[in-house]
Amino acid sequence: MNRVLNFSAGPSGLDISVLKRAQAEFLDYHGLGFNIMEVSHRGKVFEEMHNNAIAKIRRLYGIDDDYAVMFLQGGGHMQFAQVPMNLYIGGVAEYANTGVWSNKAIKDAKILGINYRVVASSEADNFCYIPDEIPFNANADYCYICSNNTVHGTQYKSYPDTHGAPLVVDASSDLFSREVDFKANNIGVFWGGAQKNGGPAGVTLVIVRKDLLDRVADNVPTILRYKTQAEANSLANTPPTFGIYMIDLVLDWINEKGGLEGIRELNEKKAHLLYSKIDESDFYTGHARFDSRSVMNVTFNTPADELDKLFVSESEKENMIGLKGHRILGGLRASLYNAVSLENVRVLVDFMREFERKFG
Ligand code: PMP
Repeated sequence: MNRVLNFSAGPSGLDISVLKRAQAEFLDYHGLGFNIMEVSHRGKVFEEMHNNAIAKIRRLYGIDDDYAVMFLQGGGHMQFAQVPMNLYIGGVAEYANTGVWSNKAIKDAKILGINYRVVASSEADNFCYIPDEIPFNANADYCYICSNNTVHGTQYKSYPDTHGAPLVVDASSDLFSREVDFKANNIGVFWGGAQKNGGPAGVTLVIVRKDLLDRVADNVPTILRYKTQAEANSLANTPPTFGIYMIDLVLDWINEKGGLEGIRELNEKKAHLLYSKIDESDFYTGHARFDSRSVMNVTFNTPADELDKLFVSESEKENMIGLKGHRILGGLRASLYNAVSLENVRVLVDFMREFERKFG
């Protein structure tokens, strides 16, 4: 078996132990003679697994019953629309624009015709940093941020103060990667697609503070209401059952790694190793400003586009995939999601050293 070293930005790799467990249970889940995807989402077997997965997420993040934990569909893109549909109450929605994905969320706010304001932006500097000050206002209907900017490789080190307004966090690309204090950060909605740190594409974890559920406007269709799914424990329609099962396996693996604290420490070590290589070299240049660097997506380039291309093709020969930068930014990107091991990053850094020696 030849497993690649997977630095893809998402969907991305899962730990081999998780895949093996899924494989072992594929034909016969817990000796019951079926795969979990083959049974009703309203049956006991699925229900138990589903509720266990939710309980594990509550424990991991330290979330109490003030929040609804839901598994929805439609990806991050659905949340760009669902957030204003469910939280806007005729005042003003405030956004911090730190990259491609917050920009898309802002576009949907515009399409929906709500009153919104972009209070901070790093667009003029090609989104290479997270603004130091994000002047959110206490009376905003909600304050929106993207926790980790997958394309440009920047990340909030801590969340901005909303002075009491609900904070909305797109955590698609740093879900389950570090601790988050929901209460201290006044989080109203926190969501992320599973396909990077949580499991396969097709499930979006959406956590909503329950006091916000009644804000929804009368003209929002049933299935787009958070309240509908919160009251139905995500079973208002058929949920992505197999994806939820995979998340459940990933959650066990995260716990084996020491929970979010253990995972964060490991992620920081991995990122430090790679950024140190970039910093010690005149050949590689990082895109993100030092204080805004993402622990998850490391964006960098060599001195020439041609060399970037060569870097990608040479790395593929060495069994590494996913190192081509996003088409919007170009260059190179190494995504160091939870399932990327420290050893994998060492191999990448050795490769970078050798590439620089040959072509630098
Ligand atoms: N937000 C962020 C930060 C992302 O990285 C992505 C996808 N890479 C999205 C939103 C959109 O997610 P989806 O493709 O699941 O709609």
